[in-house]
Amino acid sequence: MDFDLTPEQELIRDTVRTFARDRVQPVAAELDREGRFPYELVAELGELGLMGIPIPERFGGAGGDTVSYALAIEELARVDSSLAITVAAHTSLGTMPILLFGTDEQRERWLPDLAAGRRLAAFGLTEPGAGSDAGNTRTTAELRDGTWVVNGSKIFITNAGTDITWGVTITARTGEDEISSLVVETGTPGYGISPPMKKLGWRASDTRELSFENCVVPEGNLLGERGAGFRQFLEILDGGRISVAAMGLGLAEGAYELAFAYAREREQFGRPISSFQAVQFRLADMATEIEAARGMVYRAAWLKDQGRPFAREAAMAKLYTGELSARVASAALLIHGGYGFMEESAISRLYRDQKVLEIGEGTNEVQRMVIARHLGLP
Ligand SMILES: Cc1cc2nc3c(=O)[nH]c(=O)nc-3n(C[C@H](O)[C@H](O)[C@H](O)COP(=O)(O)OP(=O)(O)OC[C@H]3O[C@@H](n4cnc5c(N)ncnc54)[C@H](O)[C@@H]3O)c2cc1C
Repeated sequence: MDFDLTPEQELIRDTVRTFARDRVQPVAAELDREGRFPYELVAELGELGLMGIPIPERFGGAGGDTVSYALAIEELARVDSSLAITVAAHTSLGTMPILLFGTDEQRERWLPDLAAGRRLAAFGLTEPGAGSDAGNTRTTAELRDGTWVVNGSKIFITNAGTDITWGVTITARTGEDEISSLVVETGTPGYGISPPMKKLGWRASDTRELSFENCVVPEGNLLGERGAGFRQFLEILDGGRISVAAMGLGLAEGAYELAFAYAREREQFGRPISSFQAVQFRLADMATEIEAARGMVYRAAWLKDQGRPFAREAAMAKLYTGELSARVASAALLIHGGYGFMEESAISRLYRDQKVLEIGEGTNEVQRMVIARHLGLP
């Protein structure tokens, strides 16, 4: 067994680590406080080739593997979950359906701008009445005179309303028992985008409600076969879970590092609190669980890169890192005492940003349902 990263994977990890430390860390708290979308950071990530890591070079991407992509998301999430989800939702949710299910013509038309980060992509699956039960899509698309007429709504859609958003891939009912995937470009008549939603965390990321009222979409914006939408979005979510798992891992690492540094510096009873066994045990538990999580996340990514089944491992990694990051963020905040509860403390932002990792791309219960199915349970 070889647990070492390849030189290419190390290069991507180190590039993102440096970028996160030098460019993101200094502004993350301010972006969060102001709920401001970081256009300048997204542009810089694009220039570094990090907005399309797993997209093949012929479409303008970096042609990297899934392990490299997971490493990049982990490094960003150590410092700023808002930026990490912006990249993750753009890459694995927004762009991937075009790469996996699009025709060559669609790929050549849309991928180069997306892979370069000049435009951002969104993925519109969740609806007000269809969250965990995502197959219960109510949005409809009717083929009339060579165009799709879309009606319905989507909710909580990441990246859907920025100034550089290209569009969204949605699931819609194209028949009684038929769900299909369609691309709706920003600016299409009948396509409405709400103001940004106010959130507990991920405040510098863009989250919107979308509405479609007799929205007319070209027939050629269908992705893949008509009726394949349900299978397609399950496949996209399988891959997306690796990046959300990487976010949980990165956030846990960031919280641990803050707690570790604070424990060594903070003195009570005449000595650093890190000399108390109770604090040491907390840090030891965090470090142990993070080590386990790292193995799960990288292995799920590696399986995908080998072309082997990875859905079960991706769901396990997403579930484990979701719950682990909650434990670590909570313990890390407690090590900060009252200072951790203050808005200006870095740990309080990580604590708020953590919660959605147990909700987005399938709640903890949904991961358990997926895992149970893979175990062969009815
Ligand atoms: C900040 C943010 C960004 C997001 N970005 C996107 C995006 O870009 N694109 C997108 O399509 N979606 C996005 N989502 C939506 C997200 O995927 C959903 O919120 C999530 O799937 C849960 O759906 P729901 O919110 O409707 O909750 P519900 O499905 O209503 O769940 C409510 C509770 O019931 C539980 N529950 C439901 N069914 C069962 C069951 N069968 N057994 C046991 N428990 C169950 C759930 O686990 C949960 O605890 C985003 C959400 C957030 C908060």
